[in-house]
Amino acid sequence: MIFSFSRLNLYEQCPFRFYNKYILGKDEPVTQPLALGKAVHQAIDDKINGLSHEEAVLNGYAAADFHKELKQQEISELVDRAPIQLNMGETEMYFKLPLADEANAPEIQGYIDLYEDGIITDWKTNRVSYNITANKQLALYAWAISQIEDLKTVKGVLNFLRFKKESSHTFTVDDMEKARKWALELAKEINEKEGLLKIQPHDYKKLYPAKPSRLCSHCPFAKSCIKINDIETPLGV
Ligand code: SF4
Repeated sequence: MIFSFSRLNLYEQCPFRFYNKYILGKDEPVTQPLALGKAVHQAIDDKINGLSHEEAVLNGYAAADFHKELKQQEISELVDRAPIQLNMGETEMYFKLPLADEANAPEIQGYIDLYEDGIITDWKTNRVSYNITANKQLALYAWAISQIEDLKTVKGVLNFLRFKKESSHTFTVDDMEKARKWALELAKEINEKEGLLKIQPHDYKKLYPAKPSRLCSHCPFAKSCIKINDIETPLGV
């Protein structure tokens, strides 16, 4: 398995949801927030790379498969709030790196929305803003770019388009190392559990325990989870 921040984060938040999505391969429906995020990212990318605002918004809408709950107006307004200029940096920068300097080390991959002169930016369409250090996403991306560009510090910026608000932090070698180690430990644990699952498939509930939290209210596996795990109804479900 090649890892990404979202896979590791999901595993940390709830191993049973991770099991459903990535081990059993069950589909999660494309919700309006997911479709909106996809559309806006595509449109901003296209606009930086030379498309007109209208063309970029339409491309974004198409990238989200014209999701029935999506409105072009909302995509357009959010794209308009992005502080961007033509050809301002590298967009959708892909990376895939081993998480350690050892044989068979787990690999991590991801896309950095915008990279420009030691600064990485991630566009957010969320309805709630949060601090950039509230999770490891940008610290991990900063580590990746530090490896590619040979940098000692990397500035990360979360741009919450809805609020025209940024949360930023300059990641040091120490910050980035902590993120790398977090990712490595989780990736090794996941690999180890995949091995154990092959030997003891009936132990799946022990290997991937349900972890009820406020996130249950948006979980597509909530109904089967409650039945299988015989847990208390999670908040909001
Ligand atoms: S309902 Fe909650 S505990 Fe169950 S899989 Fe979903 S997130 Fe995990």
